[in-house]
Amino acid sequence: MPSVLTVEAARQIIIQHCQQIDRSTRKTETIPLSDSLGRVLAERVFLDRDYPAFDRSMRDGFAVRDTDVREVPAILRCVGEVAAGQTPDVHVEKGEAVRIMTGAAVPQGATAVIMVEDTENIGDQSVKVSKVVNRGANIALKGSERLASEPVCEPWWRISPAHLATLASTGKTHVKVCAKPSVAILATGNELVSVSERPGPFQIRNSNSFGLVGQVIRHGGEPYMLQTARDEREDLYSKILLGLEKDILLVSGGVSMGKYDLVEPVFADLGIQVHFDAVSMRPGKPVVFGTWKDRFVFGLPGNPVSTFVTCELFVSPLLEALQGLSFESLPLVRGVLEGHVSEKSGRTAFLPAKAALRGEELVISLCDWRGSSDLFGLVQANALAIVPRELAVLQNGDEIDALLFDTIEYGRESRF
Ligand code: AMP
Ligand code: MG
Repeated sequence: MPSVLTVEAARQIIIQHCQQIDRSTRKTETIPLSDSLGRVLAERVFLDRDYPAFDRSMRDGFAVRDTDVREVPAILRCVGEVAAGQTPDVHVEKGEAVRIMTGAAVPQGATAVIMVEDTENIGDQSVKVSKVVNRGANIALKGSERLASEPVCEPWWRISPAHLATLASTGKTHVKVCAKPSVAILATGNELVSVSERPGPFQIRNSNSFGLVGQVIRHGGEPYMLQTARDEREDLYSKILLGLEKDILLVSGGVSMGKYDLVEPVFADLGIQVHFDAVSMRPGKPVVFGTWKDRFVFGLPGNPVSTFVTCELFVSPLLEALQGLSFESLPLVRGVLEGHVSEKSGRTAFLPAKAALRGEELVISLCDWRGSSDLFGLVQANALAIVPRELAVLQNGDEIDALLFDTIEYGRESRF
């Protein structure tokens, strides 16, 4: 194992592990349709009837025989009415019309529907038609949209509101979805206190566990926050062992070069196979990826922005792959740099940035960010501007790539 991998090489290792996941063997569960938004479908769903299921009027108006309205104005006898949901019990004969509502079944004998706007009532019994209509006008024929037994939703689709409506129309009260990957989150460090505690003068609050919970949920996983571990071998051992019960274990902190950075030795004690433990990137160099049986284990650097960036880059593809999704997880955009970069680290930099559409142009502006512990520079960002190792210096107006981890900001001109 080379000591420090490039970002590309490390990502490649992750992607190889993603590809080895056999999604057909992943656990599934059947849940109420109304709870399934954002979940990944694990079944093919077919229509249980034709769409429409009957010849359906697309307008409020009159069902007629088109041959009766070849010349207008034409006066037709009104012989009944069909509302949506009703069984049509009239037959439209020559010279007759039946009042019909949108969504109602077209009565037999009728070959077209005239919009109410193109008619005029004459007394109670007759209607004057002022516009010629063709055969079939304003009628959606049975099966014209889709036929019964056509598939409408496929496995591994993430369920959107449109999918919910589609699934409801097929009569699915419950759907089979992939089980959410379970993710144990373990913060380490003697200096950490929980959010509810008041930190002593040299202590800090555990913020990483919460950021990771958010990232895990956003990428479709089910987080389990473990109790913070002390920088002691025994405590780390027992808590890491507990975390190995989940599909993925995320440990934050304790992976650098300090005397009390004991996570890697404990990984070794537990027989976790480490695939890389350093990546040439900023922030986030000391990032560890390992496997244990069919579990994935990460040692993420403890500085909060390093934790965030390494989770986005290396954990999110596995989260998606474990749900059966394709794992090119982060969208990459190219825009125009607002700001100036002079990257001296010799590593690929991922700089908190705001990607915003201004008119035709996607502008990537760098946030006021003061290094890997500065969470407050990250909160304004929706993207990570990528400065490749070999570029190092970029000027205002240069092209730059950015990974989006949130939606693009749209300038006023780009809004509806
Ligand atoms: P480490 O990776 O353990 O050397 O930690 C690097 C820096 O991140 C130190 O300043 C830690 O105090 C800080 N840190 C570690 N874990 C957390 C956490 N869970 N929440 C916030 N900061 C942390
Ligand atoms: Mg530490």
